[in-house]
Amino acid sequence: MELLKTKVKDLLKMEAGAEVLAKGWVRTKRGNKEIAFIALNDGSTIKNVQIVVDKNADTEPVLAKIGTGACIGVRGRLVESVGSGQAVEIKASEITVYGECDPMRYPLQKKDTSFEYLRTVAHMRPRTNTFGAVLRLRSQMAFAIHEYFHSRGFVYLHTPLITASDAEGAGQMFQVTTLDLENVPRNKKGKPDYTKDFFGKQTSLTVSGQLEGELGATALGEIYTFGPTFRAENSNTPRHLAEFWMIEPEMAFYDIKENMDLAEDFIKHLVRYALDNCRDDIQFLNDRYDPELIGRLESVIGTDFVRLEYTEGIKILEEAAKNGVQFEYPVFWGADLQSEHERYLVEKHFGKPVILTGYPKDIKAFYMKQNEDGKTVRAMDVLFPKIGEIIGGSEREADLGKLEARIDELGMSRKNLEWYIDTRRFGSCPHSGFGLGFERLLLFVTGMQNIRDVIPFPRTPKNAEF
Ligand code: ATP
Ligand code: MG
Repeated sequence: MELLKTKVKDLLKMEAGAEVLAKGWVRTKRGNKEIAFIALNDGSTIKNVQIVVDKNADTEPVLAKIGTGACIGVRGRLVESVGSGQAVEIKASEITVYGECDPMRYPLQKKDTSFEYLRTVAHMRPRTNTFGAVLRLRSQMAFAIHEYFHSRGFVYLHTPLITASDAEGAGQMFQVTTLDLENVPRNKKGKPDYTKDFFGKQTSLTVSGQLEGELGATALGEIYTFGPTFRAENSNTPRHLAEFWMIEPEMAFYDIKENMDLAEDFIKHLVRYALDNCRDDIQFLNDRYDPELIGRLESVIGTDFVRLEYTEGIKILEEAAKNGVQFEYPVFWGADLQSEHERYLVEKHFGKPVILTGYPKDIKAFYMKQNEDGKTVRAMDVLFPKIGEIIGGSEREADLGKLEARIDELGMSRKNLEWYIDTRRFGSCPHSGFGLGFERLLLFVTGMQNIRDVIPFPRTPKNAEF
């Protein structure tokens, strides 16, 4: 009978005795005159399986072809390991070399494995222990997100990537066009004639699926989106990407408090899932880079998030500034909080995550529910240690008149938004939602420092390699 390949992750849990076939990439090869030891990794786990090969006239020519990075298949018996570090190892009886790896040209020399350098070596990056761990965690988290919503009866709604509306009104969109930029058709006013464009109007890549998500929620009850999002913001920070993934639940009949409850439960569930299901990878990242990682993850799960009015938050920050804390950006009522302010509240003042609500309406989007004071809106930002804002959300303005007035006040075009405003005309309902930046979550869960290092192929200003 043909022997099927077993993943290294599963092999390492098996009892000695079985005949097995493993396939993967060589991490190291060492040994003495009689025996060679090969550490083989197949990406299924951070752990390698040790291959033991007797050196003889048959195996020497094969071993000569095998160096770090080579791709091989190994057939052999699983035996108890005499060495420490693993319970079982494979005593090889047959080795197939699928792909050699020239040691002289191997791009991963010990001397330069900085994250910056690795971003330039696309094929090697996922083969490192660090990115293997990060990418497995990323996959597990995506699964946990779907599972969380699915088990609570949320409908997964696919919102469009190409859109004609700017959900955030921030104008940081990538235009999508098939017009010939060398020879743009013009209208009578001399402006580009978008009626000649592919969609017959000006379109862009979406900055958020929320507006379409609201149409789903006000029909299906509870929905979520999970997809790529694009922002042409020139933010060269360790927390911004031009292409990132966002999870946006939107719920009919939730007020701001229920929205906060969901956000807190959701994020705690994901962190707990990571600790329970990705322990080896998290342990590796903890031991290698960030000895406080596991402690930080556990502390978030075990604590009630602080819920604080923006106005109170500003008071705390003003007090801190008065007492000598240096902030780069000024603090005053009406200011949009910078990451340094958010992190001060979370890390220094409270020592735990904070959900900030009641923001000034002028620094938030048009769709947020206006408070009775006429100055603030029912926004909620979830602020996390090391990250700052990880979630942004709000209760939505359900009142037709107030929504229209706000759109006009901001000088936005109502015409482009009629399809959205219709939800308030025909059976309007109170509803809420939020957006979780997937890579911000991963920054937190992995302890990585730069958002470019938690996505397989980062896109940032002046960088769209591969
Ligand atoms: P920030 O102030 O950090 O730029 P934002 O207020 O623009 O965030 P929202 O529009 O509320 O963010 O988006 C919801 C979530 O999406 C944020 O809480 C964050 O987790 C994530 N996010 C926003 N912009 C980016 C980006 N450029 N790269 C990665 N994640 C992002
Ligand atoms: Mg932003």
